[in-house]
Amino acid sequence: MHPDSLRRESMLIATGRPPRIPAGPVNQPLVLTSTFHAGGERVYGRDGNDTVDAFEAALGAVEGGGATAFSSGMAASTALIEGLPVGSVVVLPTTFYNFNRTLLDKQVELGRLSLRPADVTDTDTAIAALPQASLLWLELPTNPMLAVPDLPALTAAARQHGVRTVVDATLATPLGIRPLEHGADVVMHSATKWIAGHSDLVMGVLATADPALDEQIKVRRNLTGALPGGLESFLALRGLRTLSVRLERACANAAELARRLEDHPAVRRVRYLGLPDHPHADRVKALLDNHGGLLSFEPDSVQRAEQVCDRVRLITHATSLGGVESLLERRGRYPGELQQQTPAELLRLSVGLEHVEDLWADLDQALA
Ligand SMILES: *Cc1c(COP(=O)(O)O)cnc(C)c1O
Repeated sequence: MHPDSLRRESMLIATGRPPRIPAGPVNQPLVLTSTFHAGGERVYGRDGNDTVDAFEAALGAVEGGGATAFSSGMAASTALIEGLPVGSVVVLPTTFYNFNRTLLDKQVELGRLSLRPADVTDTDTAIAALPQASLLWLELPTNPMLAVPDLPALTAAARQHGVRTVVDATLATPLGIRPLEHGADVVMHSATKWIAGHSDLVMGVLATADPALDEQIKVRRNLTGALPGGLESFLALRGLRTLSVRLERACANAAELARRLEDHPAVRRVRYLGLPDHPHADRVKALLDNHGGLLSFEPDSVQRAEQVCDRVRLITHATSLGGVESLLERRGRYPGELQQQTPAELLRLSVGLEHVEDLWADLDQALA
């Protein structure tokens, strides 16, 4: 069976494996080498190896393009950003993953790029920012506000203006959305999060259906020296194999916690893709195949938010997301987040695979 005819859940299991030969391994073995015997296609370790290739094959299949793995999500972002010619204009969301914003701000300080921040959830505003731009940076949904831009409308407009669209789909995962099908030129993931799924490595990935762009990205990875380690690639592929079942449990847990938090007297607002009152519920329905394992909620004060971080016992007070264990933090503890208008009391909860009643008991006692 050709992998392209499979559903994405099956693709994640079937792809990135060695050929089926008698007595051959079923899994791609871990390759640890910095160089290769001369005379073949592989030359030097910075270009890649079979372990990295196996991860890329699986991720590329599920995204519908060619994938390039990086040593972190930020290394993947950097490969795109520092490859832009001097003077390029980047259209970006007003609120999104704050280190990507800082990366872009540093390019402005160096005189390399100029930025046009826009409320990309307002389609007309975003389109008005496109003329003469080079790149439209989107995040879907945004971290930590969980906003959803109208991706097909924006990619169509960007194409008309000759603007490339990148979608950071870290929160949606490759099972939540296929941005390339909606017209994006590149999809980016921090594989550190749901893809690897166990909070045990840092890695990133880009995928594109444009072979010339794929080649450019691979050249940039080589020149920026951003190849991921073999062990990381091995573990990230192992994470991909179980993504569908992990996500199923995380989504079910998150949906239940979101509903209960909405009724909690100490909580002012809950943001979750699965809530009927999500401001972009129509886009969620049209674009996303699940509601994800991430939710954000605002207790009635910053003090109570801090108290929740101090008092959780099962849930871990730490940054990051997408692991088997539930993680929670107040994003406003980072000054960059507040500059981006993230509410100071907002708590971001990455829901893990624990029993939902244990998670609720922990949250309830921490909010009391
Ligand atoms: C974590 C994250 C990144 C950065 O990825 P790293 O692997 O930490 O470098 C980028 N975008 C989003 C949405 C993230 O959550």
